[in-house]
Amino acid sequence: MFYLITAALAIGLAFALKWCRDHQQAVRRLCQAINEQQPLLSDDEPGAKMPGDWDRLRSATNELITEVAQLQQARSGQLAQLEATLGSLQEAVLLVDAENRILLANQALQSIFPRAKDILHQRLEIVLHSVAFLNFVEAVRAGPAQPQQELEFVEGSDSIWLEATGTLVTPLNGARGTWVLFVLHDITKQKKLEGIRRDFVSNVSHELRTPLSIIKGYIETLVDGHRDMPLEDRDRFLQTIQRHTERLNSLLEDLLALSRLESINPGLRCESTALADLLTSLIDDIRGRTVASEHVISFAIDPAIGLMLVDPLKITQICENLLDNALKYTPRGSRIEVSARLRSGETEVCVRDNGPGIPATDLPHIFERFYRVDKGRSREKGGTGLGLSIVKHIVQLHGGRVWVESELGKGTAFFFTLPQRASQEKERKPEEQKSER
Ligand code: ADP
Repeated sequence: MFYLITAALAIGLAFALKWCRDHQQAVRRLCQAINEQQPLLSDDEPGAKMPGDWDRLRSATNELITEVAQLQQARSGQLAQLEATLGSLQEAVLLVDAENRILLANQALQSIFPRAKDILHQRLEIVLHSVAFLNFVEAVRAGPAQPQQELEFVEGSDSIWLEATGTLVTPLNGARGTWVLFVLHDITKQKKLEGIRRDFVSNVSHELRTPLSIIKGYIETLVDGHRDMPLEDRDRFLQTIQRHTERLNSLLEDLLALSRLESINPGLRCESTALADLLTSLIDDIRGRTVASEHVISFAIDPAIGLMLVDPLKITQICENLLDNALKYTPRGSRIEVSARLRSGETEVCVRDNGPGIPATDLPHIFERFYRVDKGRSREKGGTGLGLSIVKHIVQLHGGRVWVESELGKGTAFFFTLPQRASQEKERKPEEQKSER
């Protein structure tokens, strides 16, 4: 009897253990199915059959999983549709969810922020560096409707300016909270132009104010005391007034030249020009000036450079500005070499001196308007700070490039290129050019 009871208990225990194991396994499968969002085994699959409530639980779970999958599909379909509609817009569009995670960023936005290629599902604050924008997002969420705002984004060492509008959107997936849709318009160029215009106006005012106040001061002194003033003093005062009037005049002339060059119609009058003749007569003229009497100016040109289709007056102005600088900023007895050669289908002209050179930190700015390395020296020599800007504009109008190479204590070389466009007129042979010089 005892053995019988023991055997029955053992069998019962074995069944109970198997039941536990089966249910444990089933629960594990259930968790796995929910995690992977894959329906549980269907009835006909081996091992699917489980007694009692388990089958009801399995069917309910399967239904839920299928429903969630359908909802997700519908949601991603709606997002894909939205993406397709907004993707081709020229304006940048950005959609963020309630946690500021990016749900959509169209092509235009990705081209404004090229570094943010894979920004989907990332948090806004990690991708776009702008405290002002994050404040704007919060303000849009808080309502009432926010007006358009100009916002600055820092991208490395650059700033990007965007005009932003934000609208609240009901989540497409029925989730809690609100999404925000932003339309962003790139206004970086406008902002930069505004900055340039502001700097320009303040530079011009500054440049005009100095000579004008000097002239005003001397004239007031002359008006008050010219009757009892020693003759030499009066002459000195008048000469100072004349010098500053000339300075004002050069400044206005350079400003007018620049504004003409920057206008829609810069008045380029291109004609068949022999560069060799142009440079020879300019250098002869400069050699005759008192300021050049103690400089050694040499000139060499590749005879293969034929007639060129350029504006001779403007090319003369470029070379005159460069030679003028070489004379102004190098000490007496310095050497100035002017050369022109053919290089990769272009004519390259170089004005080189062995003067003090330009510090490396100033080189990137040297063609900017009103940029001077040594302000005092430039003003003392009658410089306006606009000469190299004018050079750059004229070269660019001719389709060429301009650059500078310089080493402190060794000298400076300014280069510019002109495309070797064939002139309409018959080109003269190099020997003819040589004999004419
Ligand atoms: P500026 O009227 O002052 O000469 P530019 O635009 O012609 O104005 O030149 C800008 C600055 O570049 C000058 O003020 C001068 O400091 C520097 N510079 C130009 N050419 C030379 C040169 N050959 N050697 C040294 N410095 C130069």
